[in-house]
Amino acid sequence: MIIAIDGPSGAGKSTVAKAVAKKLDFSCLDTGAMYRAVAWQALSDGVALDDEEALGRIACEKNIEFGHADGDPVPKRVFIDGIEVTEAIRTAEIDKAVSPVSAAKPVREALVAQQQRIGRAGNYVVEGRDIGTVVFPEAEVKVFLTASDEERAHRRVRQNVDRGIGSIDYGEVLADLQRRDEHDSTRATSPLKPADDAVHIDSTGSYIEDVIERICEMARN
Ligand code: C5P
Repeated sequence: MIIAIDGPSGAGKSTVAKAVAKKLDFSCLDTGAMYRAVAWQALSDGVALDDEEALGRIACEKNIEFGHADGDPVPKRVFIDGIEVTEAIRTAEIDKAVSPVSAAKPVREALVAQQQRIGRAGNYVVEGRDIGTVVFPEAEVKVFLTASDEERAHRRVRQNVDRGIGSIDYGEVLADLQRRDEHDSTRATSPLKPADDAVHIDSTGSYIEDVIERICEMARN
């Protein structure tokens, strides 16, 4: 079974996806981390962010893997070609670089194929922007998760503090979220949009536990 969770940056997809996976004993796939890992590799190799072919080669040739603690179905660590990039892919620099990287068609083709291979191997909660529309249009449960811009920016600031990455400026985070949403929604390839059959959930002002339980209920029925 596939549970697809799509939505804009900072809507709470990661938190919700991980919690749903734990409750249902599913695995969990963070597709944004894969685009971020390709962006990290491009920056560290000095690849121009408008060189779609070179970006596509990175996505095809570099091995992106997730690390699980023993007995935990939810991965906590990210590796590209054996190098751990768990924290390195969460910086403001990567937030900026990931937009052109994820708009490159060869990158999307390579990563979508990998995501489909991973998800088809078992029961997965898959989170991203195009999961219900492109990667798993056949997913049994599809959710489009949103929250207000302000709430999303507050959550992103808190998340970075929790991850130990340090404090970041709220205004900058808000501007970056809005810039990325605009870019993700208007790009030519797989723009961010809800699947026709997705259930829309606005998590602004809701208890995240209620959102998690609602999605678990959808999966059980
Ligand atoms: O989810 P996260 O914010 O980590 O995603 C980083 C970026 O990767 C997004 O802004 C978007 O450009 C891209 N992305 C995508 N398709 C996905 C997941 C993420 O284009 N399925």
